[in-house]
Amino acid sequence: MVKKIALVTGASRGIGRACAVALAQNGCHVLINFRSRQTDAATTLALVEQAGGSGELCPFDVTDAAACSAAVSRHPRIDILINNAGIRQDALLVFMKQEQWSEVIATNLSSFYNVTQPVVKQMAMNRWGRVVTIASTAGQTGMPGQVNYAAAKAGLIGASKALAKEVAKRGVTVNVLAPGFIETEMTGAIPREQVLPMIPAGRFGQPDEVAAAAVFLCSESAAYITGAVLNVNGGTYT
Ligand code: NDP
Repeated sequence: MVKKIALVTGASRGIGRACAVALAQNGCHVLINFRSRQTDAATTLALVEQAGGSGELCPFDVTDAAACSAAVSRHPRIDILINNAGIRQDALLVFMKQEQWSEVIATNLSSFYNVTQPVVKQMAMNRWGRVVTIASTAGQTGMPGQVNYAAAKAGLIGASKALAKEVAKRGVTVNVLAPGFIETEMTGAIPREQVLPMIPAGRFGQPDEVAAAAVFLCSESAAYITGAVLNVNGGTYT
């Protein structure tokens, strides 16, 4: 069997790293994207190899459309795309600087176009593909201080649903994962006592728990699931 090739954006740590390792465990060759943290990305590659898989580093900035398209064109086939790279820059809208709006939209939402557009062309030609995009509960419910982030994450849901309809006949599925609070660097500074009451499961999720859902959506068994939003949020009200 030909190894599937999976590109995971933002795979130097957190949820992206967990997706890279889980996809490698399931037989994929993983392209480990990151922006700046080369040492952390190399750790992801080591974990992929320890898991018996194979991968390579694939640095580019997801906000740079030309860099994304150049990186994709170096790989004649990408079968699986996990759109995971993301940032938050929280502030109440009345205090939000224009850069906080535009950087969050560029990294979390415009990146969907920058990376998915060239990848989906290949997938459509190959008549097989899996696109999984990491949105957030914040894009479903809205969270105070996250007008920028919620807008980007809600936008990803709309974009994925539309793209799912465009490419379904080509054997390409397009789905969204909406994690709640997951233990990563991004949530490291959030006071636990403030948010635990919002989570019926009574705990933060682990990156592996998001990765397990991503692996399922990328599997052959999930071929008839497209345009879906799967919550991985411990029951957090959406
Ligand atoms: P982390 O902050 O731990 O990791 C973010 C990753 O994104 C890093 O690998 C980082 O690379 C990469 N990245 C950031 N900007 C860029 C860029 N411009 N180009 C390329 N890569 C970039 O985040 P998480 O693992 O927590 O989050 C992953 C995704 O899941 C995000 O989209 C986030 O919004 C979403 N999410 C997270 C939740 C949580 O509770 N943690 C909940 C819901 C959604 P580098 O190391 O090089 O900077």
